[in-house]
Amino acid sequence: MTLDILSWLAIVILSTSYWFQIWKIHIHKEVRDISLTYNVLLGIGFGILSFTAFKEKSLIFFVKQIMTTIPVLIIILQVLYHKNDRWHDASFSRCMDCSKETEKHWKFCAYCGKKKVKKDVKNNC
Ligand SMILES: [Zn+2]
Repeated sequence: MTLDILSWLAIVILSTSYWFQIWKIHIHKEVRDISLTYNVLLGIGFGILSFTAFKEKSLIFFVKQIMTTIPVLIIILQVLYHKNDRWHDASFSRCMDCSKETEKHWKFCAYCGKKKVKKDVKNNC
């Protein structure tokens, strides 16, 4: 009985965790750091296990698979939908070579790989 409760609790926690990722993507509309391959493989794996759990008539395993497959599919759609969106900050400088936005802490441009030239040249007098 306690084991059952623990298992169901784990399912709720696991399936909820994906929704935090979905919410973060929804707010930031930035998917540059999210691997599409990782999520596609996860989706296929969860999908297959949903099918086998259904065939084996394991309710708890089937619910777990469905509850994790759905958010993974949503993440895949979000990555495809937002793949060209970029987080914009007015304070970001632009790369001298490809003119894409670069972030403050970058030493190299993430798009073309050229070394970032510092704009704030100090006065030597
Ligand atoms: Zn560049």
